[in-house]
Amino acid sequence: MALGAGLGLAICLQFIELMGGKIGLISSKEHGSTFHFDLTFPVVQQPEKAPPTAPASLPAVRAGVKVLLVEDNRVNQKVAEALLRKVGRHVVAVENGQDALQHIHQEPYDLVLMDCQMPVMDGFEAAKQIRAMPAPLCNIPIIALTAHAMSDDRQKCLEGGMDDYLSKPISRSALITLVQKHAD
Ligand code: MN
Repeated sequence: MALGAGLGLAICLQFIELMGGKIGLISSKEHGSTFHFDLTFPVVQQPEKAPPTAPASLPAVRAGVKVLLVEDNRVNQKVAEALLRKVGRHVVAVENGQDALQHIHQEPYDLVLMDCQMPVMDGFEAAKQIRAMPAPLCNIPIIALTAHAMSDDRQKCLEGGMDDYLSKPISRSALITLVQKHAD
């Protein structure tokens, strides 16, 4: 595999998972690597009469849940935003901890998804400052987005006042489960 294939593959994997599909690999020394994926789409015969309901596989959610997504990486931000919108969440996305603090002061949020490594102000500092705010602002659930699935990272997030953590690349089911656990 070419060195540059790594990031593209990671992005493809996230978008295919987002659409509920699966990706696979067939590899041989002679022929190189072939990636394949399966996606299932409904066949709509009478679009004007189709009921406007979500696919059955998506869990029911409480209406009006508002999520503040704090993530400096554009790809991760777009993937998380699309996943949350797909399950009916209202999402506001910002790029660093300082912008997050400003948004939290301006309007109420039900949940914060917080990347750890960001320019200007990182997630650990932003979480610390949110926890120092007057109630009820200080009680907003914060889920950290961590780059590594390492136990020290998780420990650092929890010690820094965050409620939970999610490893990147973000898994659709893990994100939905955590959002439901903390904001429903
Ligand atoms: Mn980051």
